[in-house]
Amino acid sequence: MPSTYDVIIIGAGHNGLVAAAYLARAGRKVLVLERRELIGGCCVTEEIWPGYKVSTASYVNSLFRPTIIRDLELKKHGFEMLPRNPSSFTPFPDQRYLMLGPDAELNRREIGKFSAKDADALPRYEAMLLRAADVLEPLLEETPPNPWSGWPSELWKLAKVAWRFRKLGVDAVKAIEILTGAARPILDRWFESEQLKVTLATDAVIGVLASPTMPGTAYVLFHHVMGECNGIRGVWGYMRGGMGAISQAIASAAKSHGAEVRVNSPVSRIVVKNGRAAGVVLANGDEIAARSVASCVDANVTFLKLLDPKELPIDFVETIRHIDYSSASLKINFALSELPDFRALPGTALGPQHRGTIHICPDFDYMEHAYDDAKYGKPSASPILECTIPTSVDDTIAPPGKHILSMFVQYAPDKLREGNWDQLKEGFADRCCDILNDYAPNFKRSILHRQVISPLDLERTFGLTGGNIFQGAMSLNSMFFLRPAANFADYRTPVKGLYLCGAAAHPGGGVMGACGFNAAREMLRDRV
Ligand SMILES: Cc1cc2nc3c(=O)[nH]c(=O)nc-3n(C[C@H](O)[C@H](O)[C@H](O)COP(=O)(O)OP(=O)(O)OC[C@H]3O[C@@H](n4cnc5c(N)ncnc54)[C@H](O)[C@@H]3O)c2cc1C
Repeated sequence: MPSTYDVIIIGAGHNGLVAAAYLARAGRKVLVLERRELIGGCCVTEEIWPGYKVSTASYVNSLFRPTIIRDLELKKHGFEMLPRNPSSFTPFPDQRYLMLGPDAELNRREIGKFSAKDADALPRYEAMLLRAADVLEPLLEETPPNPWSGWPSELWKLAKVAWRFRKLGVDAVKAIEILTGAARPILDRWFESEQLKVTLATDAVIGVLASPTMPGTAYVLFHHVMGECNGIRGVWGYMRGGMGAISQAIASAAKSHGAEVRVNSPVSRIVVKNGRAAGVVLANGDEIAARSVASCVDANVTFLKLLDPKELPIDFVETIRHIDYSSASLKINFALSELPDFRALPGTALGPQHRGTIHICPDFDYMEHAYDDAKYGKPSASPILECTIPTSVDDTIAPPGKHILSMFVQYAPDKLREGNWDQLKEGFADRCCDILNDYAPNFKRSILHRQVISPLDLERTFGLTGGNIFQGAMSLNSMFFLRPAANFADYRTPVKGLYLCGAAAHPGGGVMGACGFNAAREMLRDRV
């Protein structure tokens, strides 16, 4: 069959759309095929109840690359970020609370309630993270070098990375600890108040089946400071219209350059002819030819489900089989008749306590116990809750006077020792509601609708193996030139003409667009 398309992209996740937009802008004929009835993957807005536009999966943005916003002129296509100030609110059982945000004076006052020493230390801690981010952030938009290739150009790229580290001086040691170590010892060294440390530590376990005492969690903590909101570093914001507005803006830019996007089009097989990707077969049997194929779907699905493993080297198949897809995240979306009335800061009128991320996690022991349950294959008896109320700054996503609350819950292990998530999820969600209700006693009676998305649902709905929200763990052994596998971190795969363009590749999960951006650059280098 003659090729109608230069490139077919499997999956209209935001990364697939970014790749499509750059390829189309460079004059390639691009077709994006999405399995679901709507585009966006995990970066999506869905009207699950009439009048409520819910960011069903990802819920806050900071990481999305400013380069892409500029290049694709996304603001013209509806991309609008809404900053949050303050950015977090942590109520404690003793009715005290800690509020943090981009306002240094507010931070000083708030932390000073718990420790004057920590109030002094926070700006220095943040400056240290930003210095490390200055060095590491440019790597997000670079193709990882291949230390095993033997090509002088690759070794030169590796040397340039090492040189950047050298420029950090003694901070390089701290940067290495951040990349490899555990979050808690770092926080213990900087701060004394449990309230501040636990608020910061919750970011270290987002999406991972680990406690903050475990190696690798410091990087997850750091990952969360690498972005910006409207030019302000380290600040997270909501998107007007929900997270799907990002994907819609990219799709609109891609279409304006001629890309075609089809929904309800699950790919069942990648066609390989003479060792080269030559198109795809849809679930309905239709075959579509293309000169190249890029997959925005995770590595397990791409290589072990959509391809015949016989097309791949045995050791590569083994590496993909061993990718860590364990997960422990569950999401609950709510429609509310009124805002939570916190005991620690009462009031149902919109206040600073409603704007940022509301952390429900009183201390490290609570975190460790929550993790211990998950370690033994049980949902946490007392889970960690991270709640956001985007309607606090966006009046376009719910009927007047009503609110959306998104609750990201840890730990809900994908592999349960007893029962399955279809049986357990509503009971677990009831427990989460009870916990939030202890802090805000009007919460349960304000619930109008509730949607519970278990790890099993994350796999079924969003195509995430094991429900892993990052398309594979973000641990050091699966990052940079090891993501998804050694020798194949440059978006190319063992099958010629087949590329990865989603979070399975460097720099991994999060709404960054960087995977799609880098993949498109490499594909254009190959003259697809
Ligand atoms: C619950 C949750 C909360 C999160 N919260 C945040 C957050 O607040 N901020 C943040 O930055 N990140 C967050 N993340 C992570 C982030 O959303 C993802 O890492 C990112 O969106 C991945 O984008 P992607 O384009 O690489 O892939 P995906 O979004 O996974 O897209 C893959 C696409 O491929 C489609 N697909 C799968 N199989 C096929 C097939 N056979 N044929 C055709 N199409 C197929 C899928 O339907 C999907 O649309 C969260 C993720 C989850 C799940």
